[in-house]
Amino acid sequence: MANKYWESVRVMLGGEPRRQPPSDYSEEAKTIHFYKKSEKLDFKALKIEAREHQKKGVWLKRRWITLLAINLLFVVSYWLDIQILEGALTASRLLGFHMIDLNSALQVMLAHKHIIVNLLIGTGTVLVLWLLLGGRTFCSWVCPYHFLAENTERLHLYLVAKKWVADHAFLRSVRTVFWLLFALMAMVTGYTVFETISPTGILSRALIYGPGLALGWVLLLLLFEVFYSRRAWCRYVCPIGLTYGIVGVFSPLHVTYKLANCHHEAECRKVCEVPHVLDCVIKGRSPAAQIDIGADCTRCGMCIDVCPSGALTFEIKGLRKIM
Ligand code: SF4
Ligand code: SF4
Repeated sequence: MANKYWESVRVMLGGEPRRQPPSDYSEEAKTIHFYKKSEKLDFKALKIEAREHQKKGVWLKRRWITLLAINLLFVVSYWLDIQILEGALTASRLLGFHMIDLNSALQVMLAHKHIIVNLLIGTGTVLVLWLLLGGRTFCSWVCPYHFLAENTERLHLYLVAKKWVADHAFLRSVRTVFWLLFALMAMVTGYTVFETISPTGILSRALIYGPGLALGWVLLLLLFEVFYSRRAWCRYVCPIGLTYGIVGVFSPLHVTYKLANCHHEAECRKVCEVPHVLDCVIKGRSPAAQIDIGADCTRCGMCIDVCPSGALTFEIKGLRKIM
């Protein structure tokens, strides 16, 4: 069990998913793999049939509505002075409860080189929330940069398909290096350097208090992602994603994979921002009949939306599946 959590963290920090020897597979998984091989299933036909029952974009719509509602609530609270959700994403007050972004709090404390009790209280609420919901849920359900980046990603994929641009991938472990680098810069300079360049904070403040020059930086990031490297900021740089990923390791909310339902056409890996967490969907790779997808998963639900056979679902440990 501990091994499962450590493996999830190792992959999140940049390690490649390990392939277990077939002798370590569960008996149930071995039987399913054997059946899939020996029956010579017509996956193409199964996929066409399954598509007829597919619910398209259900989670995408739910997620966008939630993300826009949260960010608009900040704007409305500020402009109408109604004190429902005050502040911005880095530090806010929801109905009087202080909420402070974990990564920002960490950067501030590193910059000041001591533990600030008020910050700890504010992070407590946030910590519990993301422990329960899975840390990186923040990314796809709240972060305004995610919303922009996943929309411009479509343009990048179109340009790549037309062969007008090439996608450049980097080592995933550079995100861990950036995390350490930003922590070190805060300690050495006494400033929260990352906060000045974080597109999450820039966009949140721009939405609430009005646009500023910093939006030019966000535009540059988006252009880099469109013309050079798919989802580069979130995949290779942003320390917020990594901090929340660590928080979500023990979350009861998961995307769960069921080997028996899978047709291995890997549509899910094509849409996923972090396809390394879906290594188990590759034919012959799943060591168990059911697997909880790792902590780097943003719980965006895109894989669930595109899976034609219901092999991926949201589940809460100990409860029934959500969908
Ligand atoms: S990785 Fe960072 S920028 Fe990307 S969605 Fe998460 S918080 Fe936002
Ligand atoms: S595994 Fe699914 S829910 Fe998780 S990030 Fe990838 S597409 Fe989104």
